[in-house]
Parts: sequence; C-alpha cells; structure tokens
Amino acid sequence: MASRRSSGANAPGNIAPHARRIICAALGILPFCTAPIFAQPAVSDSPTLHGRIETAAKMLQSNPRLKGLTEQQLIDRVEFVAANTLVLLLHELGHVHIAEMHLLVLGREEDAADTFAALTMLKIGTSFSQHELAQAAKGWFLNDLRDQQTGEKPLYYGEHNLSQQRAYQILCLMVGSDPDKFKSLADEMKVPESRQKTCKRDFAKTSAAWGAVLMPWHLEPGQPETEIKVVYGDGQGTYDAFANMFRSIRFLETVAEFSNEHYGWPHSFTLKMETCNHPGADYDDEARVVTMCYETPFDFAELYRAYVEPPPVAAAAPARAAKKRKSR
Ligand SMILES: [Zn+2]
Repeated sequence: MASRRSSGANAPGNIAPHARRIICAALGILPFCTAPIFAQPAVSDSPTLHGRIETAAKMLQSNPRLKGLTEQQLIDRVEFVAANTLVLLLHELGHVHIAEMHLLVLGREEDAADTFAALTMLKIGTSFSQHELAQAAKGWFLNDLRDQQTGEKPLYYGEHNLSQQRAYQILCLMVGSDPDKFKSLADEMKVPESRQKTCKRDFAKTSAAWGAVLMPWHLEPGQPETEIKVVYGDGQGTYDAFANMFRSIRFLETVAEFSNEHYGWPHSFTLKMETCNHPGADYDDEARVVTMCYETPFDFAELYRAYVEPPPVAAAAPARAAKKRKSR
C-alpha cells in the first residue's frame, strides 16, 4: 500500500559524460556537475534553507552559459526546483505520519498527504515557505500545461488528484488560511471569489483535523528525539549535479531536523535521495525509507526551462523534449 513509486518509461537513461556536461550546462547547473562537493563555497554555512538556496543559485553566475540570466533569474530557477521537491518530500512525510502513527484517514490518503504538505508550509509561516508553496502550485499548473501539449490523458481513475486540482488545492488552503494575504495570488490564479470564501472552511477543517491527529505525537519537553537518517545516494554521473546541490543546501537534513523538533516519532526512519531511473517519490513502510528520486528535481528543472524561462542566449545545447512528470 505504501509503494507510490511511479514507473519511469520516459526517465532519462544513462548518459555519456560529454552529453551529461551539455545537459548540466543547458539546465544551468554546470558548477554543480563539475565541482567537487566540498570545493564549493560554503553553501551549507547559511543559517536558513532559503539562504543556502540563494547562495547555491548565485554560484551559477560563474557559468558562462548563463550570462543572459540575472541573479534573480538564477535564484528563481533554483527555488522552483527546490520548492517543488520540498513540497513533494513533505507529501511523502505525510505518508510517514499516517503509516507510523496509525492515523485515521477520512478520504483518500493522497489528498491527505497533499494537505499535510501544504499545511506544514503554511505553519512554518515565513515569506519563504509561502513563496515556495506558491511555486509548488505553479509546478502543478505547468505540469498540466505540459500534459496538454504532449497529449497526455488525465487519469480520472488515479489515486492522486489531477494536476490542476492539486494546484488549486494548494491555493485554496493558502487563501483559506489568510484571505487578505493570499487574495491577490488567488485572484491571479483565477480562483473565483465564491470559492475563495469556501476555502476558509476547507482550511479550518483540514487544519483542525491534522492538528487533532498529530496532537498526541508532539514532542514533549525532555522527550528524546528519534533518529531520522538522511542519505544522499550516488547521482551516477547523470544526476551528480542534483546530488551535489541537494547535499550542499542540506535539503534532507533541514526536513529531518524540522520534523524531529516537532514530533516524537515511534520509530526511526530514513529520508533518502537516489537515482531510480525514473522520476518519483515514495515511502516504503516496511523498510521505513522515504525515497526521492534525483530524476524528480531533474524533471522540475526541465519543466521550468521549457515553460517558464527561455534558454539563455549563449546556450548551445539543443532543447530537450519536455518529459512528462509521473504521478506521485
Ligand atoms: Zn503520495
């Protein structure tokens, strides 16, 4: 029941080093492909994930192929990839909560996991977390756009909501949590006024429900923390750039530390990034391992390149065909 790994028919396969270099350059992440992890500037010295992401993005300015991009464009690009990967990781963490804490789920577990991810980002409550959440909604809209353009049929029978629904669910919880703060975003994304009003009820109910089921699991003062292991697998050449970047921004550690500070987990578990040969993420509740495939942020980067930002002027690599993001 816990396996949510998607199939990978369209996943990038093994790519020769010279081709990998071209891909890295095209994606605007060449420094991460070529520099040894610890030879990079001290990205992990930044006290916040936001700061580490910005530092990582600024490092890309040394790439001659990105001359056409401003510093802000580089930051936006890296933030989009990190934000979508983060919200997806929190979705998987929602599955971990449900499985390990034996939480009752009224409705579909995939919806509940999506809700958990959005509520967690809202609970963090920083302008960065709110921005990241909006980026995740944007990611789902772009995924839908790509599906339309590639003729990908929506899976009405799927266990997940459709991409647009997942985007609107995020926006609904945002505007429901704070109608004043997020009204302009909801308006921009064409959430009707009438729906914005009912989103307040959606947020109140789901927030109260998650709060109630997690209440017994809040970490008590003096209660020992349960270990959450983090593992960065081998990028196997093709995905070294992503492996290095996520390691350098302490991506998994940040989520593990946040989760450990808030909850008393009944069991230890592992957050892992690895090369899977297909995009996806899942929680294996027997091994107690959350796996985020490197192909997933790769896919987010491709989505961004194809639909948000024109390639930099100097980019010599041919555009790669946009790949479908598998359900997760
Ligand atoms: Zn899921």
